[in-house]
Amino acid sequence: MPDNILEVRGLKKHFDLGKGALKAVDGLNFEIRRGETLGLVGESGCGKSTVGKTLIRLYEPTEGEIVFNGKSVSKMNAKEQREFTRNMQMVFQDPYASLNPRMTVGDIIAEGIDIHGLYKGKKRKERVLQLLADVGLNPEHAGRFPHEFSGGQRQRIGIARALAIEPQFIIADEPISALDVSVQAQVINLFQNLQKQHGLTYLFIAHDLAMVKHISDRIGVMYLGKLVELTTSEELYANPLHPYTQSLLSAIPIPDPDVERTRERIILEGEVPSPLNPPSGCPFRTRCPHAMQVCAETMPPMKEIKPGHITACHLY
Ligand code: SF4
Repeated sequence: MPDNILEVRGLKKHFDLGKGALKAVDGLNFEIRRGETLGLVGESGCGKSTVGKTLIRLYEPTEGEIVFNGKSVSKMNAKEQREFTRNMQMVFQDPYASLNPRMTVGDIIAEGIDIHGLYKGKKRKERVLQLLADVGLNPEHAGRFPHEFSGGQRQRIGIARALAIEPQFIIADEPISALDVSVQAQVINLFQNLQKQHGLTYLFIAHDLAMVKHISDRIGVMYLGKLVELTTSEELYANPLHPYTQSLLSAIPIPDPDVERTRERIILEGEVPSPLNPPSGCPFRTRCPHAMQVCAETMPPMKEIKPGHITACHLY
């Protein structure tokens, strides 16, 4: 098995809106190592959810290559495609909308098992009960309907559904954003425990850095369809290089009131520009406090500034 479970090369997803192409994802390169969690963050509309949906083939890529377990997804035969669909699962943002209200929890969880014909009869039932236990729910929950559960419990059901067919890789698309703050930490802990138990790899998508801090080994920061920084979690927090990452980090409140009162905040001016009409050169230049002439002329390439720390900015 290759060390990288996933390699993404030049990935683009453009949507043709008639009046022009919406460049939701515009040339992404990254890899995810087996067993790690890669956090992907950026403001809403930056394309991070489109990345997840394109990787799992809910969207057809406009350009680029997705390599899973050493094999290009576009060149897979039917059997390999089935394996790929089994090995890559998704947990969605909204636990209210992502579960069929007319199905029992047991049937929701077993949907993938039925589609892939993995277990039948008693074995199927045992598997559902095991999955309920794995995500901290009770056996009697199998016969109930989604509306009988809280947001946190529904997200646990969504996680059990994703785990049901023993995937290697899970894309979690803002899985805690819709939950109460008090429940978010529990769901993060559940993700971490399941990762240890099942040797899972995660792409964990979120809109702010505070949410991915504790779960990610490495973090990628996206802005307007492009990756602007990628490094380990510790390095990103200790030494953010890209001005956009610096502004995202400065927006996270610090629990110490003395530090919080005196520290400097970087307030970004203006809105995120439309991906229908992105700025020339660096996509961040219309909001960047360090923008220079060259930033309007040339798109800065992703460069390794120190080992394992990559960013796209003319300052470096
Ligand atoms: Fe700012 Fe220029 Fe760097 Fe873009 S390339 S982030 S505009 S300094």
